[in-house]
Formats: sequence, C-alpha cells, structure tokens
Amino acid sequence: MSAPGDDTVRSGAPVSHRPLGILAALPQELGDLIEAMRAESGLRTITHGQRDYHLGTFHGAPCVVTLARVGKVAAAATVSALIHAFDVEAVVFTGVAGGVGQEVRVGDIVVASELLQHDLDASPLFPRFEVPLLGVSRFSANASLASQLAAACERFIAEEGAATAARFGTREPRVHRGLIISGDQFVASAAGVQALRDALPDALAVEMEGAAIAQVCHEYGVPCAVVRTISDTADDHAPASFVAFLTEIAGTYSNAILTRFLAARGSAA
Ligand code: SAH
Repeated sequence: MSAPGDDTVRSGAPVSHRPLGILAALPQELGDLIEAMRAESGLRTITHGQRDYHLGTFHGAPCVVTLARVGKVAAAATVSALIHAFDVEAVVFTGVAGGVGQEVRVGDIVVASELLQHDLDASPLFPRFEVPLLGVSRFSANASLASQLAAACERFIAEEGAATAARFGTREPRVHRGLIISGDQFVASAAGVQALRDALPDALAVEMEGAAIAQVCHEYGVPCAVVRTISDTADDHAPASFVAFLTEIAGTYSNAILTRFLAARGSAA
C-alpha cells in the first residue's frame, strides 16, 4: 500500500493523485468514513455551495467526502462541484434505497449497472424516461468500479453476513446487480411500487439521487458507481422500515462496504 504523499511510480504507470469523490445523501449513509479519514490523515474541510467537502485519505486513497442531501437536483449540484471544484477522478455514491425487484429484500445490497430517472417523462415529444436532447434513458455505471464495489460487498457478506443478519434480524444479505431507478419521490405504497415494476420490470431498487449523478458523470466523462443497501420495500411499511434501518443499520453496512472497497483500491495504487 502506498503511504499518503508517496510519489513512487510502480509498474511504469504514474500513480494518480486525483481524489475519489464519495457521497451520500444523509450522514448515517457515510458511516464512520469522515472520522476514519480524520484519524488516518487529518481532514481539510472546504465549504462550497452550502455543503462541507472533507479532503483526506483512507487506506492511503485520496478522497473527497460530502453529503448531497436528498433528491436529484441536490445530487446533480453536488457531483458537479466534486468534478469542477475538486477534480475527482471518479465518483462513488453510497446509501439506502427501496427494494423493487421481487427478490430484493431489506438488508440486501444493490450495485447499479445502469441508472434511470423514473419520473422523467417528456412524452410524446421524447420517449418516456429519455433525457431530452441527450438521447439517453439508461446511464451506465462504470463497469470496473461497480465490480470493485460488488466484490467488496461479497467479501463483507462472506466475512460478516451471518453475524450482521443475526444482529439486525434481517435475512443473510445478498448482492444484486442491475437497474437502479431514481426520482424526486419517496415511494411508500404498494400501488406506487407496483406501478414502477409494471413500467420498468428489470428495476431492482428505487431511490432519489443515483441517476442524476450518473447523468452528470456521463456528460463530463467521469466514471461513477452507486451502491445501495435496501432499507425498505417502497410499500406502505416503507416510512417505518426506512427510519429504523437508517438509524440502526445503514452505517454498519457503509463501514463494511467502504472499508473493503477503499482498502483494495489503496493497495492497488
Ligand atoms: N430527510 C428525510 C427523508 C429521506 S428520503 C429523512 O432523513 O428521514 C429517503 C432517502 O433514502 C433518499 O435519499 C432516497 O435516495 C433513499 N430511499 C430509501 N428508500 C426509498 C424509497 N422507498 N423511495 C425513494 N427513496 C428512498
């Protein structure tokens, strides 16, 4: 693992010092990441556009960590600042989401391969879900970053999945990879989630930020990936399930996933 500030060039390839951007909507979704960075490298915090951006390293990997707050505009504004003010080389979003796929349960993890805005509809002028004048409805996550995140999730489950399930009374977590859909709504009814399933049968999870981040990253050519732990199933139980999961469990998952993901990244640098 390279030490912070180590300029050594290994295997002929220059070591990138551009940071990784890591963001979540809500503080619980970052777990202890900011404190861990403070302990490892110290933190430099820059306030920009009413958000705090924390710069430091974790497992030797330079990171900029911030909170987007909730919704697509908040997410787009924040990721745009990560790109322009902090020159991130890639963006990773971590958080919770509602399960939409029939096999996706509370406590499972979904890593996006594609992201779509389910509330975007300029039909009949443009096909439903297509971003007008961009000609895209499904934005791809970066395949390599998504695989690294999924591998971190699989390691977490192999090492701590059974204990985590026993501790929180959930089933042993599974990792799913596929379509995550985003919109400016907290989906919390059986009819609402069924309408999403009918319109987008391959959707695995619904949340409020991911596809906005993916659109901005697509437009600027910045790799991005999204990992979501399932806090609820977007039905009538969603408000209570979401609040309980966010306050009691989300941080444990984020710590477990981000630690493994960033440790692997740090040792590869
Ligand atoms: N500020 C409030 C509301 C959070 S909204 C609070 O803290 O209680 C829910 C957040 O979790 C969003 O960031 C969204 O991305 C995600 N999410 C979890 N379950 C969801 C669902 N069923 N529908 C939409 N978003 C969901």
